Amino acid sequence: MINKFCCRGFESWHEKRGKKGFSIESHNNSLAPFKIVGLAVDREEQSGLLKSVVRNKVKYDIRVEMEAPISYCPWCGTPLVEIEANEL
Ligand SMILES: [Zn+2]
Repeated sequence: MINKFCCRGFESWHEKRGKKGFSIESHNNSLAPFKIVGLAVDREEQSGLLKSVVRNKVKYDIRVEMEAPISYCPWCGTPLVEIEANEL
């Protein structure tokens, strides 16, 4: 759990984790502890969406979730290792 954030932009995207759209997720003890994540639907609705895709024999290669690791805050440039270590 993150106790301190570098800026409001980072904090607001972290608050949106698990919800449809873009957010930032954090995972301690991971090689990539911070990731920008894009969800097509809320995470809790993913299995329902995928079942619908299979049921309707959709032939497109659909991604319901995409992610990219980040090392610096996209808004203020703070190295995220400082957030991870609660050094701010
Ligand atoms: Zn920041």
